[in-house]
Amino acid sequence: MDKASRRRVLEAALGAVVGAQALPGTAQAQVQAGPKVPFTVAQTLLPIAASDESFPVRRIYCIGRNYAAHAREMGSDPTREPPFFFQKPTDAVQLVRVGTVADHAYPTLTKNYHYELELVAALKSGGRNIPRERALEHVYGYAIGLDMTRRDLQRGMGDQKKPWEIGKSFDNSAPIGPIHPVETVGHFEKGRIQLQVNGQVKQEADLSYMIWSVAEQIANLSDAFELKAGDIIFSGTPENVGPVVKGDVLLGKIDNLPELSIRIV
Ligand code: MN
Repeated sequence: MDKASRRRVLEAALGAVVGAQALPGTAQAQVQAGPKVPFTVAQTLLPIAASDESFPVRRIYCIGRNYAAHAREMGSDPTREPPFFFQKPTDAVQLVRVGTVADHAYPTLTKNYHYELELVAALKSGGRNIPRERALEHVYGYAIGLDMTRRDLQRGMGDQKKPWEIGKSFDNSAPIGPIHPVETVGHFEKGRIQLQVNGQVKQEADLSYMIWSVAEQIANLSDAFELKAGDIIFSGTPENVGPVVKGDVLLGKIDNLPELSIRIV
């Protein structure tokens, strides 16, 4: 079988492939050698900017309350809290292509649907107990993303001391742009992060205001979980999170990354 027809077979076998033109070599090898399955499950892939390769997403970690002013608006004291993390399912990713405004469906059950604009770090390797000084060696690249949140459900569950999943970890709750490799964009320790809704600035801060840097997040996470290649980390949102309604157009900007835009429908 030539390369093109092999790819067609593999793409058919994988079913819906998120945003991918080409499959990474490892995914091809696994599909070819894999066991027989009664149905297929799509692998979440994110395009790698200026490349024909895609980034296979393994897990989505998100840090909570990582900008002091946002921690305060959520009712906590940022100076006393160690970092905490939650996860979204991998298939919560909604790929948003550069230069497009992606339709994003207002989700069920909520009456208070919030944006949280965040820098996303994507790992090429991992491990346990990673020291802070070595942590950035594991970063493959960065993306811009939204940690969309059903705030009323998140708060309601929190008030009842129940898990947050329904507020944070639902379908399409992670709109995200392509991955930009470190070789082309470097690391992000400072730079403006800004979210506009319908042309009005709603969130604006600097990445340097993070309480826990990306390196510290990786180090902390690796004490609790074995990190692996393909893991991505939403690095927290600045203050002034707020609600959207159908028809709103969100525009996210982080210095040195292309903009990300969605329309709530
Ligand atoms: Mn968040």
